[in-house]
Amino acid sequence: MTLARVRRMESLYLRRNQGGTAELCLRPFGDGDFFRNDRMRALQSCGCFRRRKTMAVNEKLEEIRRRTLENIARAGNLEELNEVRLTVLGKRGELKELMKGMRELSAEERPKFGQLVNDVRQMVEQELADRKSKMEEELLNRKLASETIDVTLPAKKIKLGHRHPNTRVLDEVERIFIGMGYEVVEGPEIEYDYYNFEALNIPANHPAKDEQDTFYINKDILLRTQTSPVQVRVMEKGKLPIRMIAPGRVFRADEVDATHSPSFHQIEGMVIDKNITMADLKGTLLEFAHKMFGENVRLKFRPHHFPFTEPSAEVDVSCFKCGGKGCRFCKGEGWIEILGCGMVHPDVLRMSGIDPEEYQGFAFGVGLERISLLKYEIDDMRLLYENDDRFLSQF
Ligand SMILES: [Zn+2]
Repeated sequence: MTLARVRRMESLYLRRNQGGTAELCLRPFGDGDFFRNDRMRALQSCGCFRRRKTMAVNEKLEEIRRRTLENIARAGNLEELNEVRLTVLGKRGELKELMKGMRELSAEERPKFGQLVNDVRQMVEQELADRKSKMEEELLNRKLASETIDVTLPAKKIKLGHRHPNTRVLDEVERIFIGMGYEVVEGPEIEYDYYNFEALNIPANHPAKDEQDTFYINKDILLRTQTSPVQVRVMEKGKLPIRMIAPGRVFRADEVDATHSPSFHQIEGMVIDKNITMADLKGTLLEFAHKMFGENVRLKFRPHHFPFTEPSAEVDVSCFKCGGKGCRFCKGEGWIEILGCGMVHPDVLRMSGIDPEEYQGFAFGVGLERISLLKYEIDDMRLLYENDDRFLSQF
């Protein structure tokens, strides 16, 4: 405290306390010409100086209380409110700082002042808590209001799915063959080794078994590699004549790529009747190709080998894009391979209890995906299995 300030305080005090105690305050020590420090000590030991001190901290406390309540009322959000709290109640807050000044108060003033500070602290804490809960309530109300369900909004459209290219092709194939008097038959996907191989003239050591390596459940039961076992099951029933197609899922131990999949679909066809010849087979498949790919397509039969047919052939259809001239679609060949077929092997007929001298038959197998890819000009088989609506809805 500077001497000037002491003097100012003295004069202030004198003015306020007209005479009386002023005499006491300014009573000179010794010869009346004392040092500043002595005057200070004198003033500090004097009760009226302490009262000044008390008044000063009381005023300061009151100022803090008033300003803090204003700031609380003014705080616009929880962050601002927290800042007000830290300024006043924090570790280095204004109340803490004020408490440090208590040292300068007299022993009897200290507890009184302490109580006052405590009152202010409680008041501020209460105000902060009230304001905080009000803010949180407002926040909640605003959130509730903004998240109200507007029942007048238009409803979300339920999007219909789209028929898969495979389904469309299968429906068409079935329609064509039912139109020619065929029956649609289904068989089990988990099949006996006997029906899948042996009854189709593929004994255990036959090389064709390697090509069709599949998923075995055990030595005798497997996931069928072709729909042909359905033919055997139908023949075994002994109801002749037979005109059937058997569509379904088949399995091979193949890696997934643009043209292979461990699971795909085949449509098997078979006719058993008297006086059936290769001409019937050719006529039937030509009719199918005309209905499926257009009236102008031609068929080409290339000799081939299948264990369960004799003779056997692979069938190409003339490119329905370029009419057989050769284009990118048919890889310049003019022809596209579509299926395998042949006359049912006499051994297969015999194994199913049919006399090959009396009955003959033909059979064919088409890859359903192969037709889908050709018909819809899809260049990657994997697209058929991804079930992406953006892809499927193009067809
Ligand atoms: Zn072509």
